[in-house]
Amino acid sequence: SIEVRGLNKKFGDFVALEDVNVSIPTGQLTALLGPSGGGKSTLLRIIAGLEKGDSGTVNIEGVDATHLPAQKRNVGFVFQHYAVFKHMTVAKNVAFGLEIRKRPKDEIAHRVDELLKLVHLSQFSHRLPSQLSGGQRQRMALARALAVEPSVLLLDEPFGALDAKVRKELRDWLRRLHDDVHVTTVFVTHDQEEALEVADEIVVVNEGRVEQVGTPDELYDEPANDFVMSFLGEVT
Ligand code: ATP
Ligand code: MG
Repeated sequence: SIEVRGLNKKFGDFVALEDVNVSIPTGQLTALLGPSGGGKSTLLRIIAGLEKGDSGTVNIEGVDATHLPAQKRNVGFVFQHYAVFKHMTVAKNVAFGLEIRKRPKDEIAHRVDELLKLVHLSQFSHRLPSQLSGGQRQRMALARALAVEPSVLLLDEPFGALDAKVRKELRDWLRRLHDDVHVTTVFVTHDQEEALEVADEIVVVNEGRVEQVGTPDELYDEPANDFVMSFLGEVT
């Protein structure tokens, strides 16, 4: 599980996160949903260890990760503009994390095969990222994040830059992938429909605070306040 307790974060005088408390059970697919500037990416980056909170704690799978750097947190992440290695083939990109961990060559080859099957990119293993579509590139980034078997997968608007049709395909695909792999996953979105259709549970984040946590049905049937009600009612 991921447990965030009493998390505060300021940028200068600006309060980006205020007393945030979130519990995300192991194996769950969770959405961080909210309007632009609300603090979703900041929260995700602090969970990932890419940013530090001013106070509060982050616990990942029973380990106090508050002061651990990202590399020691056993998390995989995909950000919208996360750099892919342009000069490396798809297979090399996916293998990268395993190679820097000096895993045996045959183990790497086997694992890369498995992952490319999982993200339906086996036939593209020798291509360069520039020879993939946007959706295929994001699937490659997901395979790369999964390669090192993270206990937690963090996705910041992974499909944000894609057109509506591809977005919908990938969102359905992410749901199926999660049902196969069951890795604890947190994805950020400002798209209500995306969160409602894909997530087991939704954390609504607005102006640096958690407005409500609940299943899609709970949020829909019993919004905690006017903000949640009107935000869920908005169609993008
Ligand atoms: P979006 O949906 O637009 O990505 P978000 O919910 O992810 O928004 P954050 O990126 O977490 O929002 O930003 C929350 C607030 O903190 C915003 O007002 C943003 O301008 C501010 N902020 C984020 N990072 C920094 C930074 N490095 N320095 C100063 N302010 C920052
Ligand atoms: Mg963001």
